[in-house]
Amino acid sequence: MLESEVDMNDHDEETLASLGRDNDQLMAKNHALAKALSRATQELAKAKAQLNQLAGPPMTFATMVRVRSAKTDEQGVQHASAEIAAGTRRLIVPVAANLQASRLEPGRTVLLNENMVVVSQLDTDTLGAVRTVRQTFDDGRLLVADGGGNATLVRVVGTLVGETVNVGDRVNVDPSMRFALSLVPPENDGDLVLEEVPDVTFADIGGLDEQIERIRDAVQMPFQHRELFERYDLKPPKGVLLYGPPGNGKTLIAKAVANALAEGTEAGRGVFLSVKGPELLNKFVGESERLIRMIFKRARERAADGRPVIVFIDEMDSLLRTRGTGVSSDVETTIVPQFLTELDGVESLDNVMVIGASNRIDMIDPAVLRPGRLDVKIRVDRPGAQQATQIIRHYLTDKLPLSANVDAKALIGVLVNDIYAQDEHRHLCDICDDHGQWRPVYLADVVSGAVLKNIVDRAKTYAVKLSITTGQAAAIGINLLAKAVDEEYCETRDALLDADPEQWSRINGLDAGRVTGIRPVA
Ligand code: ADP
Repeated sequence: MLESEVDMNDHDEETLASLGRDNDQLMAKNHALAKALSRATQELAKAKAQLNQLAGPPMTFATMVRVRSAKTDEQGVQHASAEIAAGTRRLIVPVAANLQASRLEPGRTVLLNENMVVVSQLDTDTLGAVRTVRQTFDDGRLLVADGGGNATLVRVVGTLVGETVNVGDRVNVDPSMRFALSLVPPENDGDLVLEEVPDVTFADIGGLDEQIERIRDAVQMPFQHRELFERYDLKPPKGVLLYGPPGNGKTLIAKAVANALAEGTEAGRGVFLSVKGPELLNKFVGESERLIRMIFKRARERAADGRPVIVFIDEMDSLLRTRGTGVSSDVETTIVPQFLTELDGVESLDNVMVIGASNRIDMIDPAVLRPGRLDVKIRVDRPGAQQATQIIRHYLTDKLPLSANVDAKALIGVLVNDIYAQDEHRHLCDICDDHGQWRPVYLADVVSGAVLKNIVDRAKTYAVKLSITTGQAAAIGINLLAKAVDEEYCETRDALLDADPEQWSRINGLDAGRVTGIRPVA
């Protein structure tokens, strides 16, 4: 009995232990299940929220125009309506009762719910369209225009109300194109206008005596004898146009003028402000007017203490092209008048003078060249052999190490003969004019002051190289100069191989008229 009791007890204990273990296992399972359940509940809630979000009605952005009416009833509930603009639509919509109508400001972005009720007002937009101010009105409106010159009337709102807005400033306009929201800081245009105090004088320029005399009469005389001009009721010109192919001294002349004007006056040295027409046009589409204004403003500032200032506009034809020619989206229709306004205003300051340079005088708007404007037109052509001699004299002098038994004069004589030779070894190509006539082109036909200087510089470079290898100063002589001309000739000839006739006639402006074909030399 005792034994079986013991047995029994043993058995019971064993069962109990196993039950306990089962229980623990079940508890753990239960726990895990409960955990999974609560996770599933969470997931479900999240999914529900996401579903709700996905199913939520869209809100619409709109621009607040004005509050139409706002009343509060006996219960203290506000009933207000507002005029808003969304895209091209203008609507009158209710304002949510919890949104204070008096806080709604014109030009601000508002949110509309699916029932088209204004439910909230957002911050002023800092992104969006930029327009240039063309005209300001006392009633707070502005006439603004885009790059293509399309004008719109907008109203100044928000923080812009207290600010001074000037013609030429840029403003950020709201999406409905009704409000100017803020001023956009001007782009950095400092590098577009080069300013220098040049040290070039007329004496540094070769072969252009005639042109220099004309420009002196036209510009320097009225400047230095102002009283006499007044006495005889003569108006000095506002500017001069120098025209002709590139590299022949137009810039040099303009710089020398800046210098010459200051001569014999107390004014100090002249200032030379220069801009390149195409750069102005490209970098600031729709903004060139602002830049033109900026240039003249700068000129006036520099001239304020009586110093003569030359505003030099290179490649003027690209900027002040005849209006209505349909090229480059007709920006000239706005730039030309802007330029004329500024030029006509130069009168009040007679020490500012505009000098334009161009290779295409025929492209410049005639209004620019009318009497009282840039009415002095001076042609600066390619140098002939005689002028070439005078130019080279500035670069090839007796001060340089020259070959024994020759002086600079003799070397220049030989050099010029070589450059201007009309024979096969200086024959560049043949061109065909629009009558179908072919004719040869020689190096002399495309030579410029800049090319002449370059030839001499080449010879000087050979001499420097020789000096380095031999350890003693190498002399410049006929051989080095001939080598330099040869190299210039070859480079020019090779460049012509891929020239296009159209471009050729534009750049070289030979008297042949339009070039219809180019044939390289065999
Ligand atoms: P443009 O304005 O007509 O394109 P530049 O006046 O800029 O030409 O001339 C370019 C360079 O060529 C000058 O800096 C100068 O070194 C040289 N050069 C051109 N013409 C002459 C000249 N008549 N006398 C002396 N140097 C000249």
